[in-house]
Amino acid sequence: MIESSDTQTHHDRHGRYPQATTVEDFRHNLAAVQARIDRACQRAGRDPASVRLLPVSKTKPEASLRLAYAAGCRMLGENKVQEAHQKWQVMQDLTDLQWSVIGHLQTNKAKLVARFASEFQALDSLRVAEALDRRLQIEGRSLDVFVQVNTSDEASKYGLSPEDVPAFLQALPAFSALRVRGLMTLALFSSEAERVRRCFVLLRNLRDRLRQGAPVGIGLDELSMGMSGDFEIAIEEGATVVRVGQAIFGARATPDSHYWPTAPEQ
Ligand SMILES: *Cc1c(COP(=O)(O)O)cnc(C)c1O
Repeated sequence: MIESSDTQTHHDRHGRYPQATTVEDFRHNLAAVQARIDRACQRAGRDPASVRLLPVSKTKPEASLRLAYAAGCRMLGENKVQEAHQKWQVMQDLTDLQWSVIGHLQTNKAKLVARFASEFQALDSLRVAEALDRRLQIEGRSLDVFVQVNTSDEASKYGLSPEDVPAFLQALPAFSALRVRGLMTLALFSSEAERVRRCFVLLRNLRDRLRQGAPVGIGLDELSMGMSGDFEIAIEEGATVVRVGQAIFGARATPDSHYWPTAPEQ
């Protein structure tokens, strides 16, 4: 969308965001992130209503999640299934709180996701699609899913290679409990904005190319891309979902390498 832009990453703030400890902190952080979203939309000539903010609560304790809820959050993103499932179990009193699993899933944990999640953003194999569909049919549930694509060409990163996505999409209509919404990616973790931007452009171009020929029932409207350090660039390139953790909850104590295979050592 934007040929060249001065928008920089904020990766220099990674690990330094202050902890949110009160409802007011959460309200303040959410408003600040929303203001950054609005400005990025303005630059790109987009309607801010076309971008959904998904707060990411991984590593944070139940008390923090409850404050985020009190500040208005109704869907939370978690990278690890077991952690998400535990949080769901203890927070079932918040009946309108929904869960989005945004991290790699092993087949043997599909059962857990099928039980409680509303959204799964890291679909990258037919084995997982099949396991999820089977369990969802049993539970009488369905699930919004995003296909994760590796746009940074880092061997250790999860997600399908871009060239494998077309055939993968063709196979998904067989799994009727999965509602395919779009594509998801993690950009290169780099302070070089242009290299980060290239990952987002790749995802958007892939989506645009595949949209026409997508099988019936396979939606490709959504692009989940961008996190605390790079979501403005992602929005300039078409993100419809941004996954933001630290800028809302505060820095994490757990190193990112626990969640991302190629995360920088901190
Ligand atoms: C943790 C995580 C995020 C959010 O990262 P922040 O730097 O906290 O904004 C986004 N996407 C995925 C897949 C994550 O695991």
